[in-house]
Amino acid sequence: MQRIRRDDTVHVIRGRERGKQGQVHEVDTAKNRILVTGINMVKRHQRQQDERTPAGIIEKEAPIHTSNVKLVCSACEQPVRVRFRVRTDGVKVRVCKSCGQDID
Ligand SMILES: [Zn+2]
Repeated sequence: MQRIRRDDTVHVIRGRERGKQGQVHEVDTAKNRILVTGINMVKRHQRQQDERTPAGIIEKEAPIHTSNVKLVCSACEQPVRVRFRVRTDGVKVRVCKSCGQDID
């Protein structure tokens, strides 16, 4: 069960990008790392490999650890901590610890 999932909005709480928010567009569940749109950009010097990848210096996101972000609750729009509960239909959902709303 992942606290942070694809398409979540997260709030960065550690490091250079502290205080910024962005949308998760990739999750590495094994490493607990995520890519967040516009967060932790690094410059990469890249050689052209095919038509789709441009040559030169490109900026792309570097993965950040999920412990360095908080989920932004869709209901109260605050960076919150998450707990889990099992609904009556047996589905496990994430719950905002702040406002108590289901997030999924
Ligand atoms: Zn909330």
